[in-house]
Amino acid sequence: MGKITIAVDGYSSTGKSTIAKRLATALGYIYVDTGAMYRAVTLYALNNGFIGTQDDIPGLVKQLPKIKLKFVPNKETGRSEMYLNGENVEEEIRTMKVSRQVSKVAAIGEVRTKLVEMQQQMGKDKGIVMDGRDIGTVVFPEAELKLFMTASPEIRATRRYKELLDKGEKVTFAEVLKNVQERDRIDSTRSISPLKKAKDAIEFDNSDMGLEEQFERIHEFAKRVIAKEG
Ligand code: C5P
Repeated sequence: MGKITIAVDGYSSTGKSTIAKRLATALGYIYVDTGAMYRAVTLYALNNGFIGTQDDIPGLVKQLPKIKLKFVPNKETGRSEMYLNGENVEEEIRTMKVSRQVSKVAAIGEVRTKLVEMQQQMGKDKGIVMDGRDIGTVVFPEAELKLFMTASPEIRATRRYKELLDKGEKVTFAEVLKNVQERDRIDSTRSISPLKKAKDAIEFDNSDMGLEEQFERIHEFAKRVIAKEG
């Protein structure tokens, strides 16, 4: 059976990566978390003073060729982790410091051009599950299966809040909820590749459903699409 391309898009903290990762494992496909790529560029921008109290977007754009991103599998867990210019930044890119700035960086056209090109290269042989905001609309508009994940902002913020507390970050629920809503707003209203459901994407709302239950449904559905289109 041939392999297909699976695009998983949706709002922040809708469980996209959980579903996409499990789907990839179950199907023997490659998994790519494109949010990690935007987060890594944001970390670079923060560490080098291009964003923060004052933003220098043209300065950041000039440095883009110097930003080398790579997913490297962790030898123990097998999960792929993000490396920025040779350094493992997997933990750091998930912090609130990065979450607060990432949507601003992701709205820069030159950043998107660079990352979309890398993503298309990674998926050129199909057999990939990629999650993000513009995968079904821009990166792989021809993907055979497109999923669009939603859940209420409160449910999403609750999930993210628990994850951050588990990692020892000192945050309040209100701050996490505000960040989720602010990223939704910037991501859906930016002029380049805004977050929106592709016409042929199937929408899954998991506000009232566990991600486990939802994964089973999506997995069954994906197997049917592969049998037909693969
Ligand atoms: O998926 P995650 O929440 O880690 O993504 C972080 C941010 O990266 C999003 O809020 C969005 O601004 C940006 N992003 C994007 N396009 C993608 C993936 C992520 O603009 N394909």
